[in-house]
Amino acid sequence: MHIKKLAAEVPAKVKSAIGDSVAASSQPTVGQPKCGGAGFIGPCPIDAVGNFHETGGGWGHRSDGSLVVAPATPGPNCVPGPGKTCDYYPLPQDQDDWNTVKYPAGQWHVHPAGVANGEGWAQGPTDKDVEGAAAWPINIVVGAADKQVYFFGPSGVIGNMNLKDFLKK
Ligand SMILES: [Zn+2]
Repeated sequence: MHIKKLAAEVPAKVKSAIGDSVAASSQPTVGQPKCGGAGFIGPCPIDAVGNFHETGGGWGHRSDGSLVVAPATPGPNCVPGPGKTCDYYPLPQDQDDWNTVKYPAGQWHVHPAGVANGEGWAQGPTDKDVEGAAAWPINIVVGAADKQVYFFGPSGVIGNMNLKDFLKK
């Protein structure tokens, strides 16, 4: 599918929430980070400076067709480094609201811009992101450093576009 067609399937309200996630990723963590789950070890510090935690969300429709846009709890503070990945799977802040969704439509998350000791986040989707893509019709990763919106599926990246162009109404 052409990348612009795919972008046109993302509702304006969702695009706005994605813009908010990109902005939040560069700021100190607000709210409770999501800790625990597979592969998570140790304490769950918050990102006190910004650019070192992931943000994201999901959207879908209730059976009456109404749209639910669900920002996710932010990821824990993570500093990328050799052999260390900072993967994150967005989980809704308001699980009760999300439970009203009958048709999940898409998910997004932001790969932060932080660089430490010359190491930064991959800006496009990671292997783990691609592994989790089958559950969603639309999967988006935004690179906060390269300002690209990556659409991907179970076979990898479908295409990418400029964040500014994507956010245009
Ligand atoms: Zn990711």
